[in-house]
Amino acid sequence: ARGPDLPPARPVRLRTDVSGLPRYVPGRAAPSDLVDKLSSNENPYPPLPSVVAAVRAELEHVNRYPDPASSELVAELSSALAVPREHLVPGTGSLGVTRDLLRAAAGDGDEVLFAWRSFEAYPLLVWGTGATPVRVPLRAERHDLEAMADAVTDRTRLILVCNPNNPTGTAVRRAELGRFLDRVPGHVLVVLDEAYREFVDDRDVPDGIALHRDRPNVAVLRTFSKAYGLARLRVGYAVAHPPVAAALRACAVPFGVSGLAQAAARASLNAGPELLERVRTLLSERARVTRALRAAALNIPDSQANFVWLRLGSHAPAFADACAAAGVMVRPFGDEGVRITIGTPEENDRLLRIVGDWRV
Ligand code: PMP
Repeated sequence: ARGPDLPPARPVRLRTDVSGLPRYVPGRAAPSDLVDKLSSNENPYPPLPSVVAAVRAELEHVNRYPDPASSELVAELSSALAVPREHLVPGTGSLGVTRDLLRAAAGDGDEVLFAWRSFEAYPLLVWGTGATPVRVPLRAERHDLEAMADAVTDRTRLILVCNPNNPTGTAVRRAELGRFLDRVPGHVLVVLDEAYREFVDDRDVPDGIALHRDRPNVAVLRTFSKAYGLARLRVGYAVAHPPVAAALRACAVPFGVSGLAQAAARASLNAGPELLERVRTLLSERARVTRALRAAALNIPDSQANFVWLRLGSHAPAFADACAAAGVMVRPFGDEGVRITIGTPEENDRLLRIVGDWRV
């Protein structure tokens, strides 16, 4: 209870624009073990024993702060990717790195461009910097890079290109991306969000890391959350030229990558071949699920990620409800569509059975 001498409580003064910020609405947690969680683009496979062992060993040291520079992880990424260490900046998931990049490049009065629909965290991370998010509509579920280049103004500071795009799974190709980058002024930072890069099997989809070498205004985001299966540990990284990388480090929360995350990421890099085997399974499942959904007359774009997009329009919520009732969680996006993560073969079978029974 408040004592009689205390002044009356006053509301804490917060930034007035914070209450209006968009919120990230995560895929709901799976309510029970009976539920297949195909709603958050996670890797369905549990961590490899070598990764669990590395995390266990690291647990012995949790009284100490982690290496703030993630030096060993950076060294190992540097040789795995053939990228100089100065170009690498690990962070708290690629979401954390995205936030820091935005803070490094954009502020009040600036504009940040991205396609829409795309990753729903973009608008909220942009708002947090004070910059204005500018959404450029997708065309036929794909980035409209020409319209995005047309939308660049004097105020544009950063452009996010989600490749492959969440939630549609579509990817931009080498030639169109090259044309786009040639049109964007060199002072505008172009961020290629390649969270799903390991699932790309179309050779015409450029590897951003290779592409960034000759383009000082291109930065690339990668993550250990998807193909590497470490979503809960929160570790991703940027690849960028030294001036951008240095600004990014300056904007990062000190000690933002935990020791557990660093150890798990390093062990995962070491287990590359085993993990890529799992990716291969997911790719053949993606092909199988895509064929089956198309055979059921559903309209889905070619996916280069670990999920597929069903453009169901106003039927999207009802389809998601039917899946949930049958124990499969998928992710509806308003009245636009439903995103379904590729799971294990058994999970995908259950999904396809629901689709077979579903009637509009
Ligand atoms: N980028 C995209 C396009 C994503 O879909 C996601 C995860 N849903 C992320 C970034 C975030 O990944 P992380 O777990 O590394 O923060």
